[in-house]
Amino acid sequence: MRLATITNVAYGATVALTVVSGVMMLLASNAHDRERAAVEQRYQLDKATSRLGMDIYAMSEHARQYVNTGDETYAVVYRRDEEELESVERRIEHIGDAGASQNELATLAEAIRWADTLHDEQVAAIAAYERGEEARARQILFGPEYERELNRAEMLVQRFQNQLDGRIERVVNEAAAIAAMWKLLAEIVLAITGLLFLFVLYFIFKRRVLHPVVRLSDVVSRLAAEDYATELPEVSQIDEIGDMAQAIRVFRENGLARQRLQAERDADSALRELLSRMTQRMQSCDTLEDFEDVVRRFVPEIDPGRAGRLYLFDEYRNAMVEACTWQKPVHSQAEFAPSSCWALRRGMPHRPQSDGIDVPCQHLALADGEISDSLCLPLMAQNETLGLLYLEVRDDSADVLPTPANYIEMLAENISLALANLKLRDALRKMAMHDTLTGLSNRRSFDHVMEKLRTGEGDAAARMSCLMLDVDHFKSFNDRFGHEAGDLVLSEVGKVLQKATREPEFAFRYGGEEFVLLLPDFDSEQAAARAEDIRLRIAALNLHHDGERLGRITISIGVASVPEHCDLSQMVQAADAALYRAKEGGRDRVELAQCRREIRGSTLQTG
Ligand code: GH3
Ligand code: MG
Ligand code: MG
Repeated sequence: MRLATITNVAYGATVALTVVSGVMMLLASNAHDRERAAVEQRYQLDKATSRLGMDIYAMSEHARQYVNTGDETYAVVYRRDEEELESVERRIEHIGDAGASQNELATLAEAIRWADTLHDEQVAAIAAYERGEEARARQILFGPEYERELNRAEMLVQRFQNQLDGRIERVVNEAAAIAAMWKLLAEIVLAITGLLFLFVLYFIFKRRVLHPVVRLSDVVSRLAAEDYATELPEVSQIDEIGDMAQAIRVFRENGLARQRLQAERDADSALRELLSRMTQRMQSCDTLEDFEDVVRRFVPEIDPGRAGRLYLFDEYRNAMVEACTWQKPVHSQAEFAPSSCWALRRGMPHRPQSDGIDVPCQHLALADGEISDSLCLPLMAQNETLGLLYLEVRDDSADVLPTPANYIEMLAENISLALANLKLRDALRKMAMHDTLTGLSNRRSFDHVMEKLRTGEGDAAARMSCLMLDVDHFKSFNDRFGHEAGDLVLSEVGKVLQKATREPEFAFRYGGEEFVLLLPDFDSEQAAARAEDIRLRIAALNLHHDGERLGRITISIGVASVPEHCDLSQMVQAADAALYRAKEGGRDRVELAQCRREIRGSTLQTG
């Protein structure tokens, strides 16, 4: 029930009860009036009838004294009594109108009748006395008959008065009881009214003042502690408390807005911080594996609502190839032609489910009618396509806040730049490690590989062979055909070596016209066979420069094998010594290293 209804009902009830109590008071007063009227009636009837009793007695006395004394004064008094009795009787005739009951009237009528009888006897006695019959008069007035009649008359008057008293007392008692009852009821109703009034007052105070004030004060304390999630009580009243609630509501809304803004700012700076950390890590990556690991770890943190995949462009296959994934994307294929992606075709982000209708990319594996909220972001640097960042909304990400689009684009840009950087560094490293003339790895690369072999764990270098190659009489070749022709020879020798080796074998340009081959898992015999094969292939070259035939090119090769000839640490030295011996032996040949002791001996000799 609404508060206003309750208070209205309570007010109505209070007013009704007050009216009822007033009516009861009136009824009580009415009963009092009746009581008063009964007492008044009793007084009046008493007055009228007590006169009758007195007159009966007085007449009898005066008649007797007259008869006894013969004093005329008594006769005169008697006559006056007679008149008075008459007037009393006349008055009493209307006593019924004054409220006497039938019983009382009957008693009174009988008393009057006896009074009249006595009067008649008195008149007869006085007449007898005045005739001189004194004895007769005495006999009448003092005889037992007369005495009985007199008593009877007096007794009837007395009875009338007793009846009257009894009735009036009853009436008075009844009226008094009724008055007391109405008064009590009126007081009870008044007390109920008072209680109701107090209750309503308390109820209103509690509901409209105390309750809202306590709740508002609780809300204010929580708001003061910056707990803006607290719910405001519904206060619709139009008064100071309503104004206060309104002010608190405005304060809370402002606080919420401030908190929201702060949260957005915090989320924003957290995202920025994450992006910048990711960028730093990507820039510190030396290998693609490290780079993929950074992307795999950071992207789901930056965009938790989406699964994704990083594709890198493989120029040889002309395909986008999966580099890494996070949060299990389900739609995009692991490898696809760049032309099947709208983002790559247009060189800009493509999100078919954004606004309005758009075509999904063909690299999405979608069932008929299936829809995926996917986003493809091309990874480009200096107009060169490096790869693709693919993102798709996860099914269970309804309660995850989406990452703003500008951050996703920033993320793609950072990945592109880092990728370009990595490629550039890779190219630089390749350049630093490669010899441009021959296309082979250079001396630095050789040292690097040797260092890795020396420090590497396991037994990768436990069994391997090293070929040290040197072009014979190259100086005079240069002198004869020119430096460019010499370069051509070196380049062609490089090609032969390139073709003659395949992973995990390495060919290096050691310096000048010297080359080194590392052949893992080759014993001296296999290595010598490979050396011989290379020597023949080079000898078979038929090179021309500026239309001039360059003649036969020969090389000398020294072969050293681990562990047959030496340890890894002495392998190059041993191969070099073997090469030296090949040169010494007449060039254009393959020479094997000597066993350990022999090497030490030769080292001692040459050293
Ligand atoms: P040997 O048979 O004893 O090896 O005689 P050689 O003339 O080949 O040996 P030497 O060490 O005396 O000469 C090497 C020459 O290689 C000297 C240098 O001019 C030439 N050379 C080194 N690097 C290059 C290069 O990059 N291009 C050209 N054209 N010549 C180079
Ligand atoms: Mg040389
Ligand atoms: Mg040489």
